[in-house]
Amino acid sequence: MAVKDKCAVTIGSLIAEPGQIVRGFLDVGETATGPVQLPLVIINGVEAGPTLCLTAGVHATEYASIAAVMRLTNEIQPHNLRGCIIAVTVVSLHMFAARLPFVGPLDNINLNKIAPGGDGSISAILAHMLFEQVIGKAQYHIDFHAGDFGEMLMPFAGYSLTGHEKLDREGEALARLFTPQVFCIAPRGSSLPPSPGFVAHAAAQKGIVSILAEAGGNGTMEEADIAVHVDGARNVMRYLRMIDGEPQISGPQVLATDWHNTRATRAGLLTLKVAVDDRVAAGEEVAEVFDIFGRSIEKVRAQKAGLAMLVWNYKAVNTGDPIVRCWSTVPAPPFPETDQFLILR
Ligand SMILES: [Zn+2]
Repeated sequence: MAVKDKCAVTIGSLIAEPGQIVRGFLDVGETATGPVQLPLVIINGVEAGPTLCLTAGVHATEYASIAAVMRLTNEIQPHNLRGCIIAVTVVSLHMFAARLPFVGPLDNINLNKIAPGGDGSISAILAHMLFEQVIGKAQYHIDFHAGDFGEMLMPFAGYSLTGHEKLDREGEALARLFTPQVFCIAPRGSSLPPSPGFVAHAAAQKGIVSILAEAGGNGTMEEADIAVHVDGARNVMRYLRMIDGEPQISGPQVLATDWHNTRATRAGLLTLKVAVDDRVAAGEEVAEVFDIFGRSIEKVRAQKAGLAMLVWNYKAVNTGDPIVRCWSTVPAPPFPETDQFLILR
């Protein structure tokens, strides 16, 4: 399709004509020391296609995911893009500047618990603006995350079901195409991510095919984790025919059906005996707790078997602190939408 058949994409004061990349800021509000803004990149392809929104930095110390969206927006060029990319490289710039995990420093709110926002303090306003002005302009959306400070996790993608057959089929396809191996499809009322309040959950409920994408963690920015995000996003873009090439799923995948945290009951210095990607047996020792004099006081044992998807890296623990989150998994059931892309080596 020729350039003349495409329209400009406008968000706030940013206007991207077909064939253009624009970068700039969308005003959300202000503090006494300056504006609260969203950093935006709009890449408007020369040919027609869907609009895909990429958001990183809802948690702004999850650096692998932020680096991936920055990289994607610098690699993708409008002349070989069908459709449009709308990206937010760091949703919470105040978290980013302050190097603060989990919650925004202006109101101590976790943006990924209050989506889609609305009336309220600055995080609610920011979430609302993110949905009304940015994510809401797209048909598809990926919310990029990693484990936050103290969290090491195995890469995965998640989609929350809406009850709308076409959306749910596409959502599962995107999750399977993004993840290297593990994905989850969260039924309504499930505790599997993305849960209510998550940006990806709220977007799906608004009719946007939206997945949660996780790789990396604990304040790191490893190339392997960035690559999971970049490769996953590119695979999704190939599936949506936004860029050339066939999508690929490399090897058998597993579907997560439930998860369970094993927690310390005692407090002190913790020695971990489990790592991400371990298959943990019920009753297996996952950590040992030493009291303040260095005496062993607890061998923490896994309450249920499963795949260690999330391991907390804390060296000091208190009663009730989680040690490991094990996911129950099953081999991914057949899924014609994407089984054709499965490469069995
Ligand atoms: Zn996160």
